[in-house]
Amino acid sequence: MISSINPVVAEPLTECADKLAELPAGTAISRQAALRLIRCADDDLPALLAAARSARDHFKPGMITYSRKVFLPLTNLCRDYCGYCTFRRDPAQAGAHTMTPDEVLTVARAGEKLGCTEALFSLGDKPELLFPEMRDTLRRLGYKSTLHYLEAMCELILRETTLLPHPNPGLLGAEWIERLSVVSPSMGLMLESTNAALLARGAAHDNAPDKAPAKRLHMIEEAGKQRVPFTTGLLIGIGETAEDRVETLLAIRDLHQRYGHVQEVIVQNFRAKPTIPMANAPEPNEGEMLRAVAVARLLMPNVNIQAPPNLNAPYYEDLLDAGINDWGGISPLTPDYINPESPWPHLEQLRVRTEKKGLQLRQRLPVYPEFLPSLEARPALLKQRLECARDVEGLVPRKGSGVA
Ligand code: SF4
Repeated sequence: MISSINPVVAEPLTECADKLAELPAGTAISRQAALRLIRCADDDLPALLAAARSARDHFKPGMITYSRKVFLPLTNLCRDYCGYCTFRRDPAQAGAHTMTPDEVLTVARAGEKLGCTEALFSLGDKPELLFPEMRDTLRRLGYKSTLHYLEAMCELILRETTLLPHPNPGLLGAEWIERLSVVSPSMGLMLESTNAALLARGAAHDNAPDKAPAKRLHMIEEAGKQRVPFTTGLLIGIGETAEDRVETLLAIRDLHQRYGHVQEVIVQNFRAKPTIPMANAPEPNEGEMLRAVAVARLLMPNVNIQAPPNLNAPYYEDLLDAGINDWGGISPLTPDYINPESPWPHLEQLRVRTEKKGLQLRQRLPVYPEFLPSLEARPALLKQRLECARDVEGLVPRKGSGVA
């Protein structure tokens, strides 16, 4: 059962930042309040942040988690062309690559030695629908589709290593959610934004059919029906408004209220890079990021809220003041292939900067502790791997380094 996650309880109208101190712990703010707070004046920001921190401390006192992972870019071919993406390639482009099973295992085993517990599969969406070269590659590897190949690689990781797969393969239908849930405890898809205008010509999702918000909401709902612990979130700075950010968070909240399966909401900021169509688009500033994180926390006080430290250097620890309780996946081995210009912080640095805020850093699995009971009906191999990887708290056992 996923019912151990408390749903949002009530929605008092709290439109003024200075009234937030009166908000009972664990209570969610209303849509109207969120719309006002996400545009609050600088003078009101400290009150907003204090309320968000207080909600986080009520939900998970004293602890910030992260997942030590290897990043496995199974293929960087993709049929979509998002305006902010540096990851994707066409087959003839330099750097186009589909990993072989040997490459997958080599990286996973190296990560195992460094104490990683998550194998994050991040890949382009259905490249074989657009590229005959990908169809040839899959034929050579012996698979009908990228998803068949992904399923086999998740199973390989489970069988041959102690890592737990967390696939991020783009849009999935009901059948593939079910199939991948047999070989992974959790999965993810960023909702990104509910603003369908981003699909218009020249916008961030022009020529990215898999980014249609309705399709992504449908997948997140399907994962909920199947009780799959699910990671999602929003991208800020891709052409949406502050109000769109609130609507996106509300859509996630609505699905979580209905199905209780959203294990984590990521608030991710756009970073400009010279090679992308959006090279000259403005990046969201720190104030926007803090407001978005704090409003996410207050809309969903009992949900894990994450923001990536590498995309928020040098001020990333300020995000702790806005109510996050997770740093997401950090790799001691592989780069962030999605944002290669933004190295992950050294884990020791992350620990020191987290502790300076009076919080303890703990390593978690790709699935959050409160969702482990929902995996009881999963196949024996997956359950066995989970049992070996967790401690009594559902986290990765401490190893004395202080970081785990
Ligand atoms: S962001 Fe994802 S879906 Fe969009 S182009 Fe890049 S890999 Fe493809």
